[in-house]
Amino acid sequence: MTGNKKDTKLYRHLKKWLEKAIIDFNMIEEGDKLLIGISGGADSYVLLDLLDSPMIFVPSFSYVVVNIDMGFDPSCKAYNSLEKYLHENNYHYIMEKTDIGIVAHSEINKKNPCFLCSRLRRKRIFEIAAAQGCNKIAFAHHRDDIIETLLINIFYGREISTMVPKQSVFGGKLHIIRPLIYMREELVKKYCGERQFPVTQNECPTSEKSKRLYVKSLLNDMAKDNKKIRDNIFKAMSHVKPDYLLPLSKKM
Ligand code: SF4
Repeated sequence: MTGNKKDTKLYRHLKKWLEKAIIDFNMIEEGDKLLIGISGGADSYVLLDLLDSPMIFVPSFSYVVVNIDMGFDPSCKAYNSLEKYLHENNYHYIMEKTDIGIVAHSEINKKNPCFLCSRLRRKRIFEIAAAQGCNKIAFAHHRDDIIETLLINIFYGREISTMVPKQSVFGGKLHIIRPLIYMREELVKKYCGERQFPVTQNECPTSEKSKRLYVKSLLNDMAKDNKKIRDNIFKAMSHVKPDYLLPLSKKM
């Protein structure tokens, strides 16, 4: 374990939900080697911090931290600040500078940079996981990400789907896990503030106009009339009634 943990009420609350998610979805097994993705954003600092703490129910595992720099910031301010944090806290980490963000925003791909960006980043992460002998990759998606992705996929992708807690890739050789899946974004951000992680601004020009931000503000508006809207959508995802959906074979 690295860093100086503060045994606060919020820390204990989040740790409880982290362990519950890991156990509920069998995310981590004895001897697993995780690749923990860190972007430098609040959520990823929280994921790393919570995974790097004493576990009560979760079997023992090892890990390597990975950051893929997207190349948006020529001054490397975010890169340097993240590296300082990882180094000072004695993490075993790999940081890679790339031009993925620039390529994804090039003239021929301007309309949908996120698709190519995510694809190229994920491909590189898979390669690093294989090179490091990792069998699981941990991402910092939380409960609000899962809810927003469901709506994005319905609104723009014409399908009912979202990011799952544990996903098998390459025929089960690798798994993606999302240990923050039960956590509300609000509490994740609050914990980030409590621990004062050196979060830096996302320099991506698309981040401020993404579909995710639109859906987030839509949910915020709806929550003014119905405070339980996010809870209800999250619970609905495990309460599906296939008999009350349209037949699969009908193309419209
Ligand atoms: S918002 Fe920017 S960094 Fe995020 S996936 Fe889209 S292009 Fe990539």
